[in-house]
Amino acid sequence: MNKTKIKELKKKLLAERELITEKLKGNDLSIDDSETPDPVDLAVRNYSKNVMLAVSENESRQLKLIDEALLRIEDDEYGLCQNCEKAILVKRLEAIPWARYCLDCQELLERGLIDEDE
Ligand SMILES: [Zn+2]
Repeated sequence: MNKTKIKELKKKLLAERELITEKLKGNDLSIDDSETPDPVDLAVRNYSKNVMLAVSENESRQLKLIDEALLRIEDDEYGLCQNCEKAILVKRLEAIPWARYCLDCQELLERGLIDEDE
């Protein structure tokens, strides 16, 4: 992949990273428990708390993927599939700059045929 393209994708990764970091900061999970809430109120609060937790879990995971992608750029390994080590299509990287796998391996992964290393 040429350097200009990598730079462009790096910019995307950094922008996305910023966005997620901001979002995660905005997720204030502290709930004011000073009043005694009625059970319905409590249920609603717990529900939204769980939703928020799920959201931040997704986002933390994506943040990790972005950080990994940025590391791969530093190591000159960016754009290579983490499973078969073939180059990932630039089109795919433009859509998902933090992609770890080529389309083939992504499919294998989704079918549970390869293990994703965490
Ligand atoms: Zn692959």
